[in-house]
Order: sequence, then structure tokens, then C-alpha cells
Amino acid sequence: MFRLIRRKIGENVYRLRVPAKNLCIDATAKVPSSNPGRSGHVYQEGQGFSDKVQQHDIAIVGGGMVGMAFACSLASTPLTKHLNVAIIDSNPALFNGVGIKKDGPPDPRVSTVTPATISFFKDIGAWKYVEEHRHAYFDKMQVWDYTGLGYTRYNARDANKDVLGCVVENRVLHSSLLSCMQSTDFQKTIYPSKLMTLHRNSSSNGVGSTSSASPSFERGHPVKLDLSDGSLCAKLVVGADGSRSRVRELTGFKTIGWNYSQNAIICTVEHSVENQCAWQRFLPAGPIALLPISDNFSNIVWTMNPKEATDRKVMNEDDFLRDVNNALDYGYGPHPKSSTSGSGGIFSWLKPDLTSSVNDCFEVPPKVVKLASERMMFPLSLMHANNYASKHVVLIGDAAHTVHPLAGQGVNLGFGDASSLSRVIAEGIAVGTDIGEVSLLKKYEAERKPENIAMMAVLDGIQKAYSVDFGPLNLLRAAAFHGANYISPLKKSIISYASGEQRLPIFS
Ligand SMILES: Cc1cc2nc3c(=O)[nH]c(=O)nc-3n(C[C@H](O)[C@H](O)[C@H](O)COP(=O)(O)OP(=O)(O)OC[C@H]3O[C@@H](n4cnc5c(N)ncnc54)[C@H](O)[C@@H]3O)c2cc1C
Repeated sequence: MFRLIRRKIGENVYRLRVPAKNLCIDATAKVPSSNPGRSGHVYQEGQGFSDKVQQHDIAIVGGGMVGMAFACSLASTPLTKHLNVAIIDSNPALFNGVGIKKDGPPDPRVSTVTPATISFFKDIGAWKYVEEHRHAYFDKMQVWDYTGLGYTRYNARDANKDVLGCVVENRVLHSSLLSCMQSTDFQKTIYPSKLMTLHRNSSSNGVGSTSSASPSFERGHPVKLDLSDGSLCAKLVVGADGSRSRVRELTGFKTIGWNYSQNAIICTVEHSVENQCAWQRFLPAGPIALLPISDNFSNIVWTMNPKEATDRKVMNEDDFLRDVNNALDYGYGPHPKSSTSGSGGIFSWLKPDLTSSVNDCFEVPPKVVKLASERMMFPLSLMHANNYASKHVVLIGDAAHTVHPLAGQGVNLGFGDASSLSRVIAEGIAVGTDIGEVSLLKKYEAERKPENIAMMAVLDGIQKAYSVDFGPLNLLRAAAFHGANYISPLKKSIISYASGEQRLPIFS
């Protein structure tokens, strides 16, 4: 039985590869991934593709963190590592390397990665490269608000874990994924280009197929992509091209969403002492987070209204540091009172199973003494594509959904998409399904959509709950802080959910 299954899988991988050999130019050989040239094969209207148009099993549009993680996941899976993959992105980091100076101050663009993401990176072989660079695991977190009515301290031990997460510069995550991919013999071609248009074969009946002007497509490669510099064909297009996804637009996927009328200011700051805890304080205009990144450096993600953000982006350093320290200490309101011997306040009647952080006192974050990077500003919005999959086209990462950064979940959701899609494709190959088949791609959508929507709803709810300064709501929030601090199963569930390891009960 086992042998039969193995033979079936072997046949399917072979079947998938044979047409690639017969019909495709070996794009990897023509365009070395280390020094990619121009694809240079423009489609001639009315003449179809010339024999030289390069053909790939999968075209990944967008080689950001999520697109690269998807490529690495394909490369590390036996059933998908033989696929011939194109990665299209004009970001020079993809072919020149990211250039990380070990001794320089940390870059202000960082991500808090969850334990689930760390496991995924370990599985695909990328975490060892992250560990060669600067990164900061943290096992403690404190969350409170400006009213002084309550606080919650989380400790990894509360959920029998070693860490709550790890803060890593985005460029470290990206370069680690690049190193990981380069360490394999994966057949990839990097196109230093932008996607301009795409056409799907008229037999593709998916959402918004641009079939009217469809060229005579090469057999088995029903999507033609016109790049800023040439063309290529693929069986499956993966849109990993970020929140303003061109793939999403060209394929006609509808979205819902709204702007938060909030901007985030991010920067690196220095303390006189080491910081090993992640701090988040909710202020009237939005949360400020102080995330450890290494030794005496931390990263600030401070959400506020656009006018304040514009002012704070350019104000002099001393004034900015004063505002930051104020926002993390007594500014806007008093410190919450520390719990006394796990009394639990309004929850004392529950006789909670006291977790190890229940008795942890409220602490004031370390003072910021220096600005160590430029300040960057990002407008914040929520966006969700109604569908992630149609025939031969699928969306992952920010192309499918963007969330408020208040819990550092955005790219973690994208890595979840990358992992799920590569697994679904491998399962399809195992049973001989065409990788562009919509029924296969819908399995990925069915797996990821509920999880992404649930997280979006939670984050949007938190954002809204903390945007209102209203007496009874302030008391409810205080109750939520107390509940999260004292009710052990709730605290464990919050940690597991934020770690990416547990679904919300209604979705499980
Ligand atoms: C202030 C802030 C803080 C954040 N903090 C966190 C955090 O702590 N943790 C977390 O999980 N998430 C965080 N996020 C979210 C996270 O940054 C995003 O979810 C993540 O960058 C999305 O990655 P991506 O690869 O999907 O898209 P992107 O990073 O946007 O990459 C898209 C890629 O596609 C390429 N591209 C675009 N258009 C084309 C085209 N037409 N043709 C070819 N290529 C194209 C681009 O060059 C780019 O390389 C934060 C976001 C913000 C704004």
C-alpha cells in the first residue's frame, strides 16, 4: 500500500515535470538567479508567444517577506521543490543582497514574529540565518492604558513556553529567506521587473479573467504576465505584491476595508539600560509599543492621529524623546496600581489558578535616551479581499489582507498563508491535480480566510475599544485587563492565540 502511494506521488511529480521539459525553455539556465538578465520576450499581438517566452510552473509576483517565504516553503517540500518558479520584483535587495551592517543601529522596520512563525522558519530552514543576525526574543510583555485602571503582565511561563515572540528587523527576515533559498538547488528565476498586466486563457473562468485580448497561450501555461521588461507564462500566479497588489487589481478581486485615520510613527531608540520586555500602552489617540531589538536598543511603533504624526515626525529630537517618555510613563494619566499578592480585585471571587505572572508588579518601561534612526510614518488601514483564489491566480500576505499593527500580526498572517498555500499545492500534486485548478486553490482560501478574518476582527475590535474615552467603557477595559491578568485559562488562551498556535474557539 505504502509503495503504491509512493509510486503514485512519484508519477505525479514526474508528470508535472515532463511538460516543463518539453514545452518550457529552462528559464533557470537562461537567466541565472544570482545575476538575472532581462526576460526580453515580448508578446507579439496576433502571433502568439514566440518559442522563447519563458514558462514557469509558478510566477510569484512580489519578492517581499511573504513571497520569499512562500518560495522557500516550496523549495523545502519534496513534492514542490522540483517546480520551476519565477519571482518578479524590482526591489534591488533581491539580487544585490540586503546589506546588513552588524554593528550599525537596528533598522526601524521590524516585525514581532510569533512562535508559530519561528516554527515555520525552522521548518523551511530559514531560522538559522535569522539567528546569525540581530534578533531579540522576549518572554515578558506588559499592556496597560492611560486611565490607570488596570494592566496585564504576560510571561511565556504562563503558557509553558520559553518565549512570547521575537523582534527581528524586516531586512534580516528578508535576507534570511534569500539565503535560505540560495542554499537550495530550487529552480527559480528572479525577474528584476514589475508586473504590468496579466492575461488568462479564455477557458479560465475565474474572477475577472482578462480574456478578451487573450493571446494563444502555450499549452499548460494559461497565464501570460507582461512585465515592465518582457513577458512570461505560468500555470499559477501568486500575488504576493503587498497591500496595493497589482495582481489583485488585474484579476478583479474585490476588497472591503477602511482607513483608520491613524498614522504610525516608527523608529529605533536607545536606552541607558537593557530592555528585554515588550511594552504597550494604550493612549487616547492610539497605542505606543516599545519592543526590544537588541541590548539597549528598542523599536517604537506609535499610533496617533495624522496631524500629530506629521508634527512628531519632524520635531526636534529632544522634544520627540520627551513625548515618547511621557507617553510611556505618567503622560495622559496615572500608573495603574500593582496587584497585591494576586488578590485579583474584581476577579478575586473566581479563586483563579494563579499563573506565574499574576503577582508581577506594574513596571515603568526603561527611559529612552536617544533617537537611533530616522522616524518613518505609515498610514494605517484594514483591507480584506473577498476572495483569495480564482483559476490560476491566488493572493497571499498583504495582497489579501492588511491589519492594524497594534498586535504585530500582519506579516505573521502572511507567513501562515505562505505555509498553507505551499502545503495545499503539494497535496494537489500528490493526487495529480493541476496546480492552477480553482478547486485546489479554494482549499487554501477555505483554510486561511476564517483565521485571517478572526484576527482582523479581534484587532479591529481592540482598536475601536481603545479609541473611545468614555467612563463606562473605561471600566469595561479595566475589567478586561484584570480578567486577562487574573484568569489563568484566559491568559493562556490569549498567549496561544497571539502566538499563532490556537484558533479562536468559534473557528476551531
Ligand atoms: C508600522 C507597521 C508595523 C508593523 N509591524 C508588524 C509586526 O510587528 N509584526 C507583523 O507581523 N507585521 C507587522 N506589520 C505588517 C507587515 O509589515 C506586513 O504585513 C508585511 O510587510 C507584508 O509583507 P508582504 O510580503 O505581504 O508585502 P510587502 O512587504 O508590501 O511586499 C510586497 C513586495 O511586492 C513587490 N511589488 C509590489 N508591486 C509589484 C509589482 N507590480 N510587480 C512586482 N513586484 C511588486 C514590492 O516591491 C515588495 O517587495 C507592520 C506594518 C506596519 C505598517
